[in-house]
Formats: sequence, C-alpha cells, structure tokens
Amino acid sequence: MDEYTPFLDALTALLGCEGVLNDPADHERYVQDWAGDRLGMPLAVARPSSTAQVADTVKLCREHGVRMVPQGGHTGLVRGAMPDPEHAELVISLERMDRIRRIDPLNFSITVDAGCILENVKRAAEAEDCYFPLSLGAQGSCQIGGNIATNAGGLNVLRYGMMRQLVMGLEVVLPDGRIWDGMRALHKDNRGYSLAQLFIGSEGTLGIVTGAVLKLSPRPEKSQTALLAVPSVKAAMQLYALARRQCSDLLSAFELIPRECIELALKAAPQLSDPLDAAYPHYVLLDLAATGPVDLGEMIEALLTQGMEDGLVLDGVLAASMSQSQRLWQFRESMLEGQQQRGEHLRTDISVPISALADFAEAATQAVGTHSPDATIIAYGHVGDGNLHFNVLPPATLAKEETTNLLHDIELLLFDVVDRFDGSISAEHGIGRVKQAAYLARTSDVERELLTGLKQLFDPDQLMGMGRILADPSAS
Ligand SMILES: Cc1cc2nc3c(=O)[nH]c(=O)nc-3n(C[C@H](O)[C@H](O)[C@H](O)COP(=O)(O)OP(=O)(O)OC[C@H]3O[C@@H](n4cnc5c(N)ncnc54)[C@H](O)[C@@H]3O)c2cc1C
Repeated sequence: MDEYTPFLDALTALLGCEGVLNDPADHERYVQDWAGDRLGMPLAVARPSSTAQVADTVKLCREHGVRMVPQGGHTGLVRGAMPDPEHAELVISLERMDRIRRIDPLNFSITVDAGCILENVKRAAEAEDCYFPLSLGAQGSCQIGGNIATNAGGLNVLRYGMMRQLVMGLEVVLPDGRIWDGMRALHKDNRGYSLAQLFIGSEGTLGIVTGAVLKLSPRPEKSQTALLAVPSVKAAMQLYALARRQCSDLLSAFELIPRECIELALKAAPQLSDPLDAAYPHYVLLDLAATGPVDLGEMIEALLTQGMEDGLVLDGVLAASMSQSQRLWQFRESMLEGQQQRGEHLRTDISVPISALADFAEAATQAVGTHSPDATIIAYGHVGDGNLHFNVLPPATLAKEETTNLLHDIELLLFDVVDRFDGSISAEHGIGRVKQAAYLARTSDVERELLTGLKQLFDPDQLMGMGRILADPSAS
C-alpha cells in the first residue's frame, strides 16, 4: 500500500472498474506524446462517463490533494495532455463522454459532450445538412474538449475562424468540482464578461470542459480544389490577396506547400505521384466552397487566368471530382507523416501579419541557413491566416544529443526573428510545456500578474494542469 492507495480505492468505488485504469500496462495510449519524443507516467487514468462523474472525480482529487490533467484525444503538440513523468498526476480522460446531445439545424447549432471526436461531430452536422468547419489532420482522434482547450485552428480558419469563433456555450467542471453551466445557444449574448472565452485556449489549466454548444454553417454543396505552382512565397501571398478579393469570400483554405514537403509526401505515401509535370519551388493548395447559385468553376478559372497573367501562377491542376480533390489534399496530410519519419525535428507554429509573411520567411530562412547550412527547412502552412509551420529537419548524420541542442538553438534564433516581425510563437498549438519558457520570457510583468491571478482564482489549490502555460510554483 502506498500513499495513493486510499485515493485510488475511493476513485474505483466512484467510477467502477471500467472508469479507472490502474495498471501501467493499460496506460500506453494516454502517456505517449504524439510526436513520440517523450513519455509521461500517470498515477492512474480516470474515465468518467458523465459531467457529474467528472465533478465527483475532481472533488475527490481535491480532498486528497491529487493533481490532475484533463485529456482528450492526446493529439496536442505541446505536451499539455501528457501526464507528469513523476507518477503524480491523475489523467482524466473524456473519452467515454462522446454523446451528441442535440442538433438544432434552424439555429445552426450542435450540442455535444466534450469527449466527442471532431470527425464524428462533423458527420453528425452533415447528416442535418449543416457543416462544422473545424478541419485538421488529427480530426479522426482529437476531441471537441481538446479543440476548445487549445483553441484549435486548422484549414478553414480564414473563412470560419478558430475554435473561439465556433463556440456558443460551454459546460465546465471547475478545479474545486463545481459545475459551471454556460450552455447557451445564442448567436448574440453580451451579458457581462465572457467566461466561455476564458476557458477557450486555457489548455486544461482553469477547468475541464465537459460539454459545448457549437456554431454550425450551411453545408457547402460544391467545392473546387486547385494545386498551383508559384515562383516564390511572395507570389503565393500576392495570389492569396487576389483570391480573397476575386472569390467573394468563398475561399475556405489556402495552404503553402514547399517542394520539400511534396518530396516528403511522395516518400511517405508511395501511391501518390508528382502532381505536376515539372518540380516547382512552392505550391499553393486552395479550396473554394459554396452553397446556392454560384459558379465556382468560372470563379476559379478567372482566378487562374489572372494569376497566370500576373506571373503568380506557373502551372497547376484543378480537381475534376471529389476523389481528385481528396488526392490533392493527401499531399498536405502525407507530408506530416513524412516529417514524422525523419525523427526528432523542430516543429514551430508561428504567425505574423499576413502582409509580413513573405519577408518573415525570407529573414527566417536566412537566419537558420547561416546558423546551420546542413539543416533542411520546410516552411508550410495556413498562410491565409499568416500562420507558418517553419519546421527544421536536422542533418541525418547528427547524434541524438547534438540534434536536440541544435534544434534548441535554431528555435531561439527563429523566435528572435518572430519578435522582429511582431509575431506570435504559437499561432494555434498553444503553450503547454514545450513553449512555456519562450512564452513567459515574452510576457510583461502586468500580463504575468493578471495570468497568475486568474489561475489562483480558478485553481487556488494548484491542482489542475499544473506546469502548463504558467510555471509550476512548486517546481524547483
Ligand atoms: C496530425 C496533426 C495535425 C494537427 N493540425 C492542427 C491544426 O491544423 N491546427 C491546430 O490548431 N492544431 C492542430 N493539431 C494540434 C491540435 O491542438 C490538436 O490536434 C487538438 O486540438 C487537440 O485535441 P485533443 O483532444 O487531442 O487534445 P489533447 O491533446 O488531449 O489535449 C490538449 C490540451 O487540452 C487539454 N484538454 C483536453 N481535453 C480537455 C477538456 N475536455 N477540458 C479541458 N482541457 C482539456 C489538455 O490538458 C491539454 O493541455 C494537430 C495535431 C496533429 C497530431
């Protein structure tokens, strides 16, 4: 019997055997960071099946002084959901809370448990001829609660906004076990402070999201996908401006893909073949989508003609069917796999003003190239939002320790370039543990005081999501 036995016994009595995983052999998928770089070690994994059970679990943790970390699909990229390696945190997984509670197509809203997998919410919306626009590579595993806690973005932000714009109401279990019912399905509601917005992006440090009312849109009836070769990042951004102005705000995705990423995708997915006859330095993958009497074919043809006349488009392919469109999007998905296969590498998630993105890319490429000429830069992403994943693959010959040190140095100098452009070191993945030092170094005294004051207000016992976003005061 160790110090935690009474707590674990009480937890099992509360949630039943199905609701508690005590055996480390059952912990594998709750402990491994998505990138596979790190492992956590939980005290146990709690799997409550209702909001009341989440509240009771949290109360029990409070009574016993046990730390807890909420967990969704565990696809986050900043190690926020990964339990502490010291065996001292209870993982509270929302995976058994996966009910679609209600869909109201006339109100364009859907009410869900926070443990619903994003893909399932999208499907449920489609069944009612509606559309939940959040789309990202991890949508088959990530959960709505995780999307809310990280204020996820993804491919359609430029048209529909981030999670912040898609949440109408929330239900949250606070760190003391009380339940805040903010499940409002109102498109307009200006009553005082918005508590819901505080929880969005709070990365499991202020409360556990157990339910949400989400905003839907009409389901697009038609779409057009194009993969276009462009001569430079600057040309890509000029094409973006043209597309925004020419396409009646129907542009829903605009992704920059450098040649290196096409190569990575071709390696990771041998069924793919080079999309164009020749290789080009950069590509843009874009989607237009609409409902109603709009001729998207005509619109995209006009965009291409103008883009070619202006020297912004060198070549391209238009998807003639849904399956061709999916094939083009496979390049975007498979290149992530290609990066994974290269082992430890620098993943960043920066943003700058859209108007500064091309200059930023040039300055950052120069800075990294000067420091480490043998590293491979792959800068891609949701550039329609000013968001670039400026990633760096180390030279393959480097030993593990040298790789880690090199990537750390490159990250520091890259973030300096971000600062010069008044950008953000985290556009959508959040801070978690991975970006904490860089984030805190960039916050003012006033900001830090407000942030720690908020944390203290919501979680005075310092038990939930400790060491994420803000430093853990008890850590040495
Ligand atoms: C292949 C891939 C592609 C991705 N693409 C994108 C992208 O395009 N855009 C983007 O924004 N992100 C992207 N991500 C990262 C993204 O943040 C996550 O995929 C997703 O939003 C996290 O959801 P999750 O359920 O997996 O959360 P988890 O990883 O389980 O948790 C993430 C954080 O939220 C907290 N949390 C989880 N559930 C709750 C809850 N119910 N209540 C309170 N806190 C909670 C955790 O404690 C943790 O701090 C990608 C990740 C992968 C692996």
